[in-house]
Amino acid sequence: MNRVDLHCHSNVSDGALAPADVVRRAAARGIETLALTDHDHLGGLAEAAQMAETLGLAFVHGVEISVTWRGASVHVVGLGIDPDDAPLAAGLAGVRAGRTRRAEAMARSLAAVGICDSLEGALRHAGNPAMIGRTHFARHLAAVGTVSDVKEAFRHFLVPGKPGYVRHEWAALGAAVGWIRGAGGHAVLAHPARYRLSAGALHDLLAEFRAAGGTALEVVTSSHTPDQARMFAALAQRFALYASRGSDFHAPDEGADFGVLPAFDSPVTPIWDALRR
Ligand code: AMP
Ligand code: MN
Ligand code: MN
Ligand code: MN
Repeated sequence: MNRVDLHCHSNVSDGALAPADVVRRAAARGIETLALTDHDHLGGLAEAAQMAETLGLAFVHGVEISVTWRGASVHVVGLGIDPDDAPLAAGLAGVRAGRTRRAEAMARSLAAVGICDSLEGALRHAGNPAMIGRTHFARHLAAVGTVSDVKEAFRHFLVPGKPGYVRHEWAALGAAVGWIRGAGGHAVLAHPARYRLSAGALHDLLAEFRAAGGTALEVVTSSHTPDQARMFAALAQRFALYASRGSDFHAPDEGADFGVLPAFDSPVTPIWDALRR
């Protein structure tokens, strides 16, 4: 099960590697079942699937949809989706719209604290200008030495309450889950600890997610400590959700890499059992 990774990004969204190179890297680091889950975009799937076939990996078509729930950003991963599903593609196009305007607003707010030309800088780090996002701004701020690394860029400039943060309205939870289900996929609530919700709000989110047709919870992810993984495994069991597992790999020198996640030792049924059916 340690050879399963169902969450990662290519330069079609905010990863640093081309889709084929993401698959090559996963294979070289021992992954045997891989899902590419770019933010709000299906454009890397064909290239990744082809490389997976060449290298003998089991490939799962994926996506990670940006959602706004009670004013906060929440991510829903779709696994096993039909990459040619028209309603899903149309839904994602709607979610992507507005990224450029948001990026322009981010650049204006950074300029107001003396950081100039950040949009041009961020675009230099974006493989796909239509998917310009906070990670590209973070890479730019780190590259020019405004901050020492991407994490610090987020901490000082790119999270709610900081000068470069611009609120954005993403998809509704029910819509995102509906598009994934309509395309034949499983909907997975990604990295739940990242949302820092109260116990009550977390229960509301899980109940709403399940009622909308969501079927899995990300339990083992680079965003979770071992204690958090145990806690979310228990919640998955309580809400009758499958457990998922993924690195959320973005770039070789940023965050988690393939093949380093802790072992999955939970009583919850793993989503990859359901995907094989
Ligand atoms: P966006 O969709 O433009 O709001 O960007 C969201 C992306 O920013 C996430 O998918 C992560 O890749 C990245 N991100 C968010 N928060 C952090 C953080 N604290 N540290 C590093 N990366 C982050
Ligand atoms: Mn990302
Ligand atoms: Mn995410
Ligand atoms: Mn992700």
